[in-house]
Amino acid sequence: MMLVKNAMEPLVAEVLNDNWQLINMPCKCEQCKNDVFALALNLIPPRYVSKANGYAYVKAQYFDKQMHANILVKIGEATRKVSEQPQCDNYTKEGVNA
Ligand SMILES: [Zn+2]
Repeated sequence: MMLVKNAMEPLVAEVLNDNWQLINMPCKCEQCKNDVFALALNLIPPRYVSKANGYAYVKAQYFDKQMHANILVKIGEATRKVSEQPQCDNYTKEGVNA
């Protein structure tokens, strides 16, 4: 059993959760949030860790203001892309129905 995790995942989730209500996304449903989360992760180089404490290590090592800002930029890019091509049912031709 291979047990590696992308330590960026909980960091990006944290930044996304903290900022989700402020993010310029027309629809705030779970589907759209997950789409933004997935896309942002695809835009951010992963840091794989193999230990349970790997996340804490990466967070302590790299999670500074600069990284926080970089993650927010990628979340912004992801939000733009998702809002251009939303996958959720709240979107109709007329706009958001949420
Ligand atoms: Zn939605």
